[in-house]
Amino acid sequence: MENLDKQYVLPTYARNYINFVKGSNATLFDENGNDYIDFTSGIGVVSVGHSNERLSNALCEQAKNIIHISNLYYIEPQAKLAKKIAELSGIEGKTFFANSGAEANEGALKIARKYGEVNGEIKRYKVITLKNSFHGRTITTVKATGQEKMHTSYFGPYPDGFVYADDIADIYNKIDNKTVAVMMELIQGEGGVYPFDKEEVQKLADELKKRDILLIIDEVQTGVYRTGEFLASNLYEIKPDIITMAKGLGGGVPIGAIFTTLDVLSPGDHGSTFGGNYLSTRAGLEVCDILEEYKNSGKLDENFIYFEEKLNEIAKKYPKLFEEVAGLGMMRALRCRGSEVQDIIYKEAHNEKVLVLKAGRNSIRFLPPLTITKDEIKEGFDRFEKVLKRIND
Ligand SMILES: *Cc1c(COP(=O)(O)O)cnc(C)c1O
Repeated sequence: MENLDKQYVLPTYARNYINFVKGSNATLFDENGNDYIDFTSGIGVVSVGHSNERLSNALCEQAKNIIHISNLYYIEPQAKLAKKIAELSGIEGKTFFANSGAEANEGALKIARKYGEVNGEIKRYKVITLKNSFHGRTITTVKATGQEKMHTSYFGPYPDGFVYADDIADIYNKIDNKTVAVMMELIQGEGGVYPFDKEEVQKLADELKKRDILLIIDEVQTGVYRTGEFLASNLYEIKPDIITMAKGLGGGVPIGAIFTTLDVLSPGDHGSTFGGNYLSTRAGLEVCDILEEYKNSGKLDENFIYFEEKLNEIAKKYPKLFEEVAGLGMMRALRCRGSEVQDIIYKEAHNEKVLVLKAGRNSIRFLPPLTITKDEIKEGFDRFEKVLKRIND
């Protein structure tokens, strides 16, 4: 497999060569029948677990009827998913469907730019983003990402108009008469799992509203129950002008969404060939239904509590390795004492057959399926501890 991959696939990832052939909730099986506990859910994507029966039945049924028509026609599951997003978020807004997180963010930036063109005397186009953020890999979203190391000269020139703030307090210093929007995550994910303070975010949201500056919340990772509520914006009790979603929304089927209360776009302003097609929106609808029920049954919160208990136990037991437990809900990290510790744990975890992620400079990140069972959590942490015991000595 390694040869085939290396001969024909562009080498943009440092890949692990494990050949997974089957998954079941938070458990994966390789070609030799070894089982792995998946604390990654494909980077926050497989929110309802691998081979979820309800999701796979919905997809099969949909595939047998229509997979794709085009946005030139009415698409019933698209309209229903848009309604569901408005209902679950408790925000009166409309949705545009894209195919990925970066693409959703691109669309959000287009909405902001048009808003800045048509509202006010001078064109406002600047968007403030935060240091250590992550917004995607297209040329624009890479530039929106507030990490200097991502703006390599290879891909320049980049679009103008992005301004980086060190933290929320610094956003106020960076505002000028050309500022049209602030774009941020509520919990920085790729940057290392850093939640922002709720009151500080609420104050920012109020202040921006007063100044007619848009608030774009990138919920590509935090959205769709990852933090315990449908949106992290619900948890933070704010009503942003634009919210983007992607990762967990399709349960593994590519989908992105721009959800906005603004009435800015007209026919011809934006579009997507694949975006919002029958298959992806049917997936999104089923995922939302499954997770809404899961949340209402109390199981989601039980999972969060158990997962947190386990992380706290480990942080307490291995103070030589870890500084703290970070994050919210099922978006978690153990902050390691240095990047060497992070690297060793990451590598060794694969050998013990538990999959985890790295984030930022020194975090081991956990993004398990939201439907992970208690047994899977326990088994995963038992395996994880074997790694820790070895390197703790
Ligand atoms: C993953 C991620 C993106 C990019 O999503 P893609 O689907 O990979 O384009 C953007 N923003 C945040 C916060 C993310 O976590």
